[in-house]
Amino acid sequence: MANKIATIALPNNEPILGYLPNSPERAQLKQELQRRKGTVLDIPMVINGKEIRTNDLVDIFPPHELAHKLAHYHKGNSEHVHQAIDAALNARQKWANMHWEDRASIFLKAADLISGPYRDSINAATMLGQSKNVYQAEIDAACELADFLRFNVYFASQIYSEQPISTSGVRNTIEYRPLEGFVYSITPFNFTAISGNLSVSPALMGNVVVWKPSNTQIYSAWTIMEIFQKAGVPDGVINMVFAGGAETTNVILSHPEFAGVHFTGSTGVFNQIWETIGRNLHLYKNYPRIVGETGGKDFILAHHSADIDVLSTAILRGAFEYQGQKCSACSRAYIPKSIWDKTWEKMYASLKTFKIGNVENFTVIMGAVISADAYNKIVSYIEKAKSNPDNILMFGGNYDKRKGYFIEPTVILTKDAKSLTMREEIFGPVLTIYVYEDEEIDDILHLVDTTSEYALTGAIIAQDTYVIEKWKQALTNSAGNFYINDKCTGAVVGQQPFGGARKSGTNDKAGSKWNLLRWVSPRTVKENYLPAKDYNYPYMSEE
Ligand code: NAD
Repeated sequence: MANKIATIALPNNEPILGYLPNSPERAQLKQELQRRKGTVLDIPMVINGKEIRTNDLVDIFPPHELAHKLAHYHKGNSEHVHQAIDAALNARQKWANMHWEDRASIFLKAADLISGPYRDSINAATMLGQSKNVYQAEIDAACELADFLRFNVYFASQIYSEQPISTSGVRNTIEYRPLEGFVYSITPFNFTAISGNLSVSPALMGNVVVWKPSNTQIYSAWTIMEIFQKAGVPDGVINMVFAGGAETTNVILSHPEFAGVHFTGSTGVFNQIWETIGRNLHLYKNYPRIVGETGGKDFILAHHSADIDVLSTAILRGAFEYQGQKCSACSRAYIPKSIWDKTWEKMYASLKTFKIGNVENFTVIMGAVISADAYNKIVSYIEKAKSNPDNILMFGGNYDKRKGYFIEPTVILTKDAKSLTMREEIFGPVLTIYVYEDEEIDDILHLVDTTSEYALTGAIIAQDTYVIEKWKQALTNSAGNFYINDKCTGAVVGQQPFGGARKSGTNDKAGSKWNLLRWVSPRTVKENYLPAKDYNYPYMSEE
């Protein structure tokens, strides 16, 4: 019985645990890492709540320890995609008609499972499967995913309570209907939280989902799916398939009931998806919702009034945490000549102490990059940068894939502010720096704004208040997430809603009300208590 109006309080962000030496959480997580390494997981697809095994197996290794097999997954094909669509459509009516608070309750339970009994499991899966160090795993897999789940529920309650005015004799309401059909969620490798959220946000609003995780994130995606099932997500509501990207997409984007895509990944793949939707428009019942958060070429711009310690730390953390594999990673920096020597001195001293290696050793800051493809791509950028006479290799530039896909943090100083590594997304630990003459600042603002096709994140480091105001204004369209005296990474759900414009995506701000609104189709209902009974209007009377 739904005779109640529940109070949904504004959640708090999940506290980040410290994992200090001798802390209980550190000991527990180490145990979970050992436990996981002692078994080889057999990962099936999940369609209509059933585990589907094809025996077409693909092995999974930690990117930092290629000699150790962690798991294998069962690869699917287009037939499984059809089955997942059918399962989703069969589940649709019951799920859509369920009272929203009961749907919400499932996801709140999932959040509590993640921050509680499954915390070690999801963190360990993310460390091993994606080569994140303990801190990077904790802020992503445990905290951000729990935050997405809890804040989504809060924002959904705000959306549902937004109602039109009613007047005397008339009652107006808006029903926030789920989309008619199913939603396709396509997720990237680099954030476990994003991988969960792209299915959760449409599902919370009453939609059914076919989810295609990235091949290189299946190890932690499976843990998410286990948690969803444990929390009570009904069969068919979220279906996880492991068919190839193009194969899955071909089937889904040709289906008349395709109602929307929730994508995070590279700009090129998103462009292809959008173009295919455009070509197939005649096939669909509705105009599909297209939500995509894509690439970045994120900047840090320093002023000569910058605090050197703040600047150096923002650049190092922004560029190299998680091996630079964040859409928000700082990959180009602009530093005035007057403070360059001091800035580099500080950066160099820190870089010399960076530990790179197996993330199961808690003293390392950087693990390996995700895959052979990523490694080869990043290495080719490093080699091109090395052979460019306008560049000086300031640090790193070495790489080694004997044990895992390790690449040193690499810093390139360039004389050409529009050189290749200043323009293109590399998605690895490669930072290019351009040192500008202090008086050139207007040109630099223009360069920062126009050098790449992206506009995801950016940061300015300065202490002069008028400069901060002027730069904030000048760079209005250069980033969807703009930071002042901070690194350009690390957005927190509920605090810095995340997303960029230009070729960085549709900027629907993951984990916010604006994102959830894309997964509903409002129906306005007017009920007239005193309907007219005669077509004549009073003004029509004779004088
Ligand atoms: P990717 O584009 O290679 O893959 C993303 C997803 O698309 C994966 O599931 C992949 O299997 C799938 N895919 C690949 N080809 C496909 C096709 N033809 N049709 C359908 N699906 C296909 O990206 P990635 O390497 O997993 O992630 C890195 C990229 O994601 C970077 O460009 C990064 O900037 C971006 N990213 C953006 C944000 C953001 O919020 N803006 C967040 C995280 C990552």
